[in-house]
Amino acid sequence: MTAFQLGPLLYEGKAKRVFQTDQPDLLAVEFKDEATAFNALKKAELEGKGALNCRISALLFEHLQRSGVPTHYLGVQGLRWMLVRPVRVIPLEVVIRNLAAGSLCKQMPIAPGVPLDPPLLDLYFKDDAYADPFLSEARLERLALVSSQERLELEALARQVNTLLLELFAGIGLQLVDFKLELGFTADGQLVVADEISPDTCRLWDLDVADAKERILDKDRFRQDLGGVIEAYGEVLKRVQGVIQGPSTYK
Ligand code: UDP
Repeated sequence: MTAFQLGPLLYEGKAKRVFQTDQPDLLAVEFKDEATAFNALKKAELEGKGALNCRISALLFEHLQRSGVPTHYLGVQGLRWMLVRPVRVIPLEVVIRNLAAGSLCKQMPIAPGVPLDPPLLDLYFKDDAYADPFLSEARLERLALVSSQERLELEALARQVNTLLLELFAGIGLQLVDFKLELGFTADGQLVVADEISPDTCRLWDLDVADAKERILDKDRFRQDLGGVIEAYGEVLKRVQGVIQGPSTYK
């Protein structure tokens, strides 16, 4: 590593480790090869996943930033390290759904693949101890994680991200079915997109493939034991690399 010295481990999550650096306004995120699903009930080591997600996420953050969406991203270093601005992450998972899939189809009489227009925006409380529950309006208000103004702002930002990513993925033959965002505030109070945007956090279907299982190019391959997880993530990276320059090395 150059340009900064790695400091102590600040936080270890299921897919990433976050380290302090010798600079107060810089954190280093290491993407791990560990895959987890169902609140970590299912676990596996998938060699190469960390590097793929780091690269895909970096390219998507660069695309969003070039389109005017503020993010915590600053650059990459090596294959699996991302440099980011420190952010106070809001403990909310902001999910946007363009087509019905996953938990939505388990909780409502709606078939997988049904288009949702306008896209559905669901908020979940990000806390493993409670298994990330869906939040009603009343519960969201009771938790008081964000003001009503901040909530409007974060929902608008998430919808802007959806519009940009839907278009980007459509251009490379991928349907963005749904995805999860985490947002936070920088030290100077700016709301930014944080965490990662990768096949671990997005559902992506190959538009050229009709078969409901074969078309899956995201973490559902792992969740459903379909195999070919790394190959699918590699295909996503290959296509994204075809249309986005980068990622830039942090200097
Ligand atoms: N998601 C995520 N982290 C979570 C929960 C969901 O990244 O803790 C993503 C998931 O990959 C999908 C979208 O958010 O792209 C919607 O997930 P859903 O609510 O359908 O839950 P799931 O079926 O993953 O349990």
